[in-house]
This record gives sequence, C-alpha cells and structure tokens, in this order.
Amino acid sequence: MKITYLTLFPQLMECYFSDSILARALAKNLFSIEFVDFRKFSKDKHKKVDKQKVGGGAGMLLEPEPIASALKACTDKNSWVIFLTPAAKPFKQKDAKRLAKKEHIVFVCGRYEGFDERLIEIYADEVLSLGDFVLTGGELAALAMSDAIVRNIPGVLGNEESLQEESFEKELLEAPAFTKPNLFQGKHIVLEFLKGNHSKISALKYDMAVMRTRYYRPDKRIEDEK
Ligand code: SAM
Repeated sequence: MKITYLTLFPQLMECYFSDSILARALAKNLFSIEFVDFRKFSKDKHKKVDKQKVGGGAGMLLEPEPIASALKACTDKNSWVIFLTPAAKPFKQKDAKRLAKKEHIVFVCGRYEGFDERLIEIYADEVLSLGDFVLTGGELAALAMSDAIVRNIPGVLGNEESLQEESFEKELLEAPAFTKPNLFQGKHIVLEFLKGNHSKISALKYDMAVMRTRYYRPDKRIEDEK
C-alpha cells in the first residue's frame, strides 16, 4: 500500500515514520509514503493557497486550484482520496480494517477554515473526521488514521493475534490487562489470571470487557452477548 499526504506541513508529519513499528514496516516495504506540499501547485507569486470566504464568515479558506492540481498530479484510477474535516463521519476501527486493503490512499489535510466544498464534491472518495473536536490542521488526523490502518496490514505487527483481542472487536473495549509484579502498591492482579485456566480466564476477560464497555461506552451495542 502507498499513502500520500497532501499537506502544507510535510516536515510536521515525516518524523512520525522515523522510528518504531511504522519505520520497520516502511523498511520492510509493507507500505510506502509520499508527501505532496500543495503550496508548490499555487500559481500565486507569493505561493498563497488561502482566500477569503465568499458570502462572509470568519477566517480564510483553502482555495480549490492548488489542491486540485496536486490531486491530478499524484492520483490514478487506483487512488482512494480521503478529505479530512471535523464536518464528517467519525473514523472507526472498522474503517481502519477496510482501508488497510486499499492500494493507494491519499489524505488531504486541511488548514485555515478548511476546504472549498466543491473540492470535496469533485475529488473525495470519502470524507472522514478523527472525532468531535477541532484541530488546527488535518495532519494529526491523517497520522492517527494511517497508524490505525497500517497496523492492520499483514506483517506489520510482530504478533497479529493482538489484533483479534483489541478494543472494538465485536464493539467491545479491551478487558483490563496486567503484567508483573503480582502485587503493585498494595494492589493484586485479578487472581484468576494467575491460575492458568485459559477458558476461565477468557470468560472472565469477556465479562470484564462487557462491564468496561457498558461503563465507558453505553452508546455501544454489544454483539454476541453470552
Ligand atoms: N472550519 C472547520 C469546521 O468548523 O468544520 C474547521 C477547520 S480546522 C480549523 C482546519 C483543518 O483541520 C480542517 O480542514 C481539517 O482538515 C482539519 N481538522 C480539524 N479537526 C479535524 C477533525 N476532527 N478530523 C479531521 N480533520 C480535522
């Protein structure tokens, strides 16, 4: 898979791929990245890419031409173009899994007050929000989504079983987990975890995951309840 980032701040993004799991996956050619600074496509002599809103309203908007030219230069029929904006459906784990199967994803990172709507109408295959808050730019949203997507590409994680047990599988948050020491600041590990009966442990983990999900995310419909 290739991921292209259309951004005014490639240098803000590059360092995220310089270490840890994503850097190793890049080195193994499990995916590749490309940064396209759409300012370079501006025809303005000062390379401006923002204009005032037509019809009033605070702040400046990204003008359509530089982003359109950049998209024409870096996409083909296999590209899947995602515009990032808080005014869209929120990105979920199931989107991460679905998008991990794409050949080429292009994230368009906004700045200022966002995009001229016609750009989205013409070029977007999908419009996604990272969540119900407003960031100063789309770069963090693109990085967060990329991270969640890439770890679903086979070979990226050392232990792929961890993908099955994680939060949001079957709409459940992950159960509490423990490591050594058995006693930490007066608190014991749940005793059943130490006894080695794996079917009992997994039943208990399921119950704890259900309780945690009901507590933190009463909005979730738990599939498959025992
Ligand atoms: N005026 C816009 C609104 O109220 O919907 C917010 C613009 S925001 C200051 C600038 C850019 O940051 C957006 O174009 C988008 O690319 C990015 N951004 C901000 N919050 C985001 C979020 N929750 N999800 C995805 N992108 C976001």
